[in-house]
Amino acid sequence: MISETFLTEKLQHFFGYNSFKDGQAEIMRALLAGHSTLGILPTGTGKSLCYQLMGKILKKPVLIVSPLLSLMQDQVEQLRYLGEKKAIALTSELSYQHKQFVLQHLGEYDYVYLAPEMLQKQAVLAQLMHISLGLFVVDEAHCISQWGPDFRPDYLDLKELRQKIGNPLTLALTATATSAVESDICQQLFDTNEVPKIIRRSVDRANIFLAVKEVTSQQQKNEYLLQLLPQLKMPVLIYFSSKKKADELSQLIRAKTSLRTAAYHAGLAKSDRYSIQQQFMQDQLDVICATSAFGMGINKKNIRCILHYHLPADLESYSQEVGRAGRDQQLSLALLLFDPADIKLQRQLSSNTLPDDLEIEYYFRHKGLDHKHSAASEKELLLEYYTQRAMTPEKIRLIFKRRRLRKEEKLQALINYLKSTECRRNFL
Ligand code: ADP
Ligand code: MG
Repeated sequence: MISETFLTEKLQHFFGYNSFKDGQAEIMRALLAGHSTLGILPTGTGKSLCYQLMGKILKKPVLIVSPLLSLMQDQVEQLRYLGEKKAIALTSELSYQHKQFVLQHLGEYDYVYLAPEMLQKQAVLAQLMHISLGLFVVDEAHCISQWGPDFRPDYLDLKELRQKIGNPLTLALTATATSAVESDICQQLFDTNEVPKIIRRSVDRANIFLAVKEVTSQQQKNEYLLQLLPQLKMPVLIYFSSKKKADELSQLIRAKTSLRTAAYHAGLAKSDRYSIQQQFMQDQLDVICATSAFGMGINKKNIRCILHYHLPADLESYSQEVGRAGRDQQLSLALLLFDPADIKLQRQLSSNTLPDDLEIEYYFRHKGLDHKHSAASEKELLLEYYTQRAMTPEKIRLIFKRRRLRKEEKLQALINYLKSTECRRNFL
């Protein structure tokens, strides 16, 4: 067994930290003993460091599957800042020549980040079969689970891809801790005869004060927000479930207060999104009005307040989103503005993401969906995914029925939280 002293020396030598955060050393010891591992640690506990230091100790390349471009860029930038020059994000943003170069020299990089879609490419797989990986990492592993807050069908192919590259030692990481997500990750990623070590730490974040403010109308909500914001410590991140509202409120806040604010959502150009994210990171913005497109993996330590203008999708998303506050351990606030009329909106939004029976029928008859519907493309993707796996319409109908029921249950749990009179932290 590798001793903790040995690991601490390596930690100091390579990253300059004096001690491990809770859970880190245990994950590395499991890996060094040869066990593939699932690490469930709260946001901000330094999950990345586990594989970064492993790379140094094993002296072999680490491959990291990550769901988002901005997340990969962020990580690569951080590594470069630490002096790790041999880190790269293999993304569609690279020029053709650059990508070819990276592929030909894949084994010479210490850290290679890529999205699951990229890992499926024949050219990438072919190169990976030639090199000896130290560690295969699945970051934000909850994306593998339908019950996770950010389910990504592409993550479901990881088991097969991992087999193709010779079942390397694997580390799956997430902050989402429900047992449904946990067992999904184990099943979808590992063979039945290969039981991963599970290392889990509580998601309790004692420095975040959780509160709910009930209002009775949109107008009251806006008034309350405008009156509250100037009294809060900055920076503040406000979550919206619509791009339009995020834009509107960002404008309203700019007009009525002296706070520096911007909106952030998938409707903006990539370059705008990037520059807004940078400004926020560098404290050039006080308030950011965002949709859930903002935040996964955002590593800003001093966010003082997370406001929810609309309801979050469910309690898991809520824990993840509020977990972005107070990573510096300073007292922070998470406040949800609750207008009971928003329940209807959330129900509509969540049913919008899953095809109903009529749409499934339409899809099979016309080999596509009616694009007048705004969420059609996401549903189409899901339908395509299941039909490619040769599932019958009946089976698909059943899957989506189950998923809709599950969503309704989750929404109910959220409503129970909002109405609860017990300690909110206990409830979560
Ligand atoms: P997570 O993925 O768990 O949300 P990150 O990997 O993004 O968290 O790390 C959050 C921050 O913690 C980073 O800025 C990282 O440099 C820092 N960190 C990681 N390990 C340690 C440590 N042992 N001591 C101090 N800071 C650490
Ligand atoms: Mg992370």
